[in-house]
Amino acid sequence: MKEKHMDNCIFCKIATGAIPSDKVFENDEILAFRDIHPAAPVHVLIIPKQHIANLSECDDSHAGLLGRMLALVPKLAVQEACDIQSDSEGNLSGGYKTLINSGPDSRQEVYHLHVHMIGGSRPWRENI
Ligand code: AMP
Ligand code: ZN
Repeated sequence: MKEKHMDNCIFCKIATGAIPSDKVFENDEILAFRDIHPAAPVHVLIIPKQHIANLSECDDSHAGLLGRMLALVPKLAVQEACDIQSDSEGNLSGGYKTLINSGPDSRQEVYHLHVHMIGGSRPWRENI
């Protein structure tokens, strides 16, 4: 796949390997790596390798990619041991938050689309 990268984008640099990251998943179109300032014991960012600033740059042509990014979340939750568990009485534990910031009012810091997957035992950072 031919990827479009932006010279001044830190996540494009992570996608190409120019800046190192703690990778937890990679294929030809998607990379997942640990957030450098984790808000919880598990904090992974899932990015497309091609540069897309945020959801506002997405349309129907991105539905497949977006679907595959989201479908990766439950797999990573198992891999990172923060998936939802049920005991013999049906009590649930575990679980994770999935978050996509888009634009200034969301306080998006890095303008390269990313899905946060946040989980693990609490406490978590409060303002997430
Ligand atoms: P957002 O506010 O949704 O744009 O989130 C950007 C996230 O990227 C923050 O949680 C940062 O901690 C994280 N981040 C920034 N630079 C890096 C980096 N070099 N490696 C890993 N995570 C990063
Ligand atoms: Zn980028």
